[in-house]
Amino acid sequence: MKIAVLPGDGIGPEIVAQAVKVLDVLKSDGAKIEMESAPIGGAGYDAAGDPLPEATLKLARTADAVLLGAVGGPQYDALDRPLRPERGLLRIRKELNLFANLRPALLYPELASASSLKPEVVSGLDLMIVRELTGDVYFGQPRGIEIRNGERVGFNTMLYSESEVRRVAHVAFGIAMKRGKRLCSVEKANVLECSELWKEVMIEVSKDYPEVALSHMYVDNAAMQLIRAPKQFDTMVTGNIFGDILSDAASMLSGSIGMLPSASLDENNKGMYEPIHGSAPDISGKNLANPLATILSVAMMYRYTFADLATADRIESAVKKVIAQGLRTGDIWTEGTQKVSCSEMGDAVVKAL
Ligand code: NAD
Repeated sequence: MKIAVLPGDGIGPEIVAQAVKVLDVLKSDGAKIEMESAPIGGAGYDAAGDPLPEATLKLARTADAVLLGAVGGPQYDALDRPLRPERGLLRIRKELNLFANLRPALLYPELASASSLKPEVVSGLDLMIVRELTGDVYFGQPRGIEIRNGERVGFNTMLYSESEVRRVAHVAFGIAMKRGKRLCSVEKANVLECSELWKEVMIEVSKDYPEVALSHMYVDNAAMQLIRAPKQFDTMVTGNIFGDILSDAASMLSGSIGMLPSASLDENNKGMYEPIHGSAPDISGKNLANPLATILSVAMMYRYTFADLATADRIESAVKKVIAQGLRTGDIWTEGTQKVSCSEMGDAVVKAL
């Protein structure tokens, strides 16, 4: 298996280095993996004048999976839009056709006090949000700003073809099958035709998965239920814009952005794996970042692209163990636990493995 390693900017190189330590352990235990690094984001711009250099895209295309740190930083904010680091990320997702974004929100009981919600509401939370990533109002045409009746109007088009909905539905049902066999499809079918089609296609696809209980929820209610009683959900599937918002809200249920991994998959389960957080310029270069989201992204890589569930479980157990031992980076530290650096946390996971 070939893994393209794209550390990116800010804390990216620090956290990816810890994930690479984990991969090195698996390699020394006999895993047949090969890693190759390349720049992306601001690092891509610095190296080749492009946030997604041609060579990086080529490497990502030929790899079986991509491990990404994070991109962006204040020094790149003044660049023209097409040259900005975030553009590199959007382009690689589109170029690799990564249409299904998997965002777990999982709360280790030991970290329940880090959540902004009451511990009893969130303790033990284990939710997976499947967000469609390459369609919807973010990509629909026409779009623009123009003059109508003497004033400026801005417009975007919410658009899904049935094939786009069907393919993400299959991913979501497949994941629900491996979890609690409950799938909640989130839309706004009471108002939007686009959502009406979404719901119809979900119901059609559900016939292929008789074991999965499909339910439907309007997005406004889903936002409320996520905060009120998040443990009612097992797997959720939703479109690009609703998923963007709901998955960020769900991430905060679990306290720290530094704990949550993500996967973006194509039709053949090739995937790009990355923590959900950004490049954290405020702490970069200080060895303070939490590397666990990135290490857990490697576990997702094993689960979804390599279909090696035993290794995925092994990595996740090692992370659970260091949390249970009381080791904490600054973002999840509380009184009575032991504060460690980014590299110390990486070393602890390696030891626990
Ligand atoms: P951010 O996620 O980088 O940081 C938000 C806050 O969370 C900061 O206080 C940061 O220190 C903290 N944080 C984030 N990750 C952490 C970790 N692993 N350990 C400990 N603390 C952590 O979001 P932001 O500040 O809005 O954005 C910073 C830059 O990152 C911007 O350039 C933005 O465009 C970019 N960004 C990139 C991605 C990505 O690469 N996928 C995602 C979001 C933002």
